[in-house]
Amino acid sequence: MQGTIATNIRPNARTSVSASPRRGACLPLPKALLCDLDGTLVDTMPILADLATEVMTGMYGIPRPLARELYLATCGLPFVQQLEDIFPGDSRNPAASDLFEGRKPARCGAARMSDDTRLALFDLHARGVRIAVSSNNGRENVEAFARLSCFPFDLVMGYGHGLAKGRPHIELAEKTFGVDRHEMLFVGDSLHDGEIAFVAKIPFVGLAGTFAKDRFTLRFPGQPVIGHFAEILDLVPAGSRIAATG
Ligand SMILES: [Mg+2]
Repeated sequence: MQGTIATNIRPNARTSVSASPRRGACLPLPKALLCDLDGTLVDTMPILADLATEVMTGMYGIPRPLARELYLATCGLPFVQQLEDIFPGDSRNPAASDLFEGRKPARCGAARMSDDTRLALFDLHARGVRIAVSSNNGRENVEAFARLSCFPFDLVMGYGHGLAKGRPHIELAEKTFGVDRHEMLFVGDSLHDGEIAFVAKIPFVGLAGTFAKDRFTLRFPGQPVIGHFAEILDLVPAGSRIAATG
């Protein structure tokens, strides 16, 4: 199944372009940037961790701190697969997943990208980088995010209908953009995202927050790790930089 190709969206903020030298660039400018959603483009991980904790304590009777720890340790997978990792073969898993997914839009539907994240995307987009969302959040949730994002994503890929982070999304991006995977860059906040990139052999940037920078560095030595999404601009060669003017 196809992901959604977004078109005809224009920035709602006034922007200007100025030269901005960057230091420490270590990656070539990618032809396609694949961005995880939760915890990467939007700061929804605390909300999702709270919701998952509610569901797991209510459904399985485990302590709240343990539920939260287990959720975060397995994040990056679809929630139903997280439950299978945590409670293998438990007959309550489908109902718990339905409860989580059913409550998620009301909790996370208002989440928006920060201005500096959006401007970083516009900066790269203006230089010809195709921008995609690659998320294991449900397809409808991801498409709703993109519609309200005030950014013209070139490809929007969520979970379901045969799509998932990893090979299905990467193959769709290859087909849609006509680029090889070594010309892509994947940015994500979970160790699972890093594993996906490692297996698929595509360049990866870890975004610290959900996991500490040291967790990424220990697991993926030599891979760049940033503390804020917009710092991705410091990893690629300098170009014309878009800056907010009001
Ligand atoms: Mg994430």
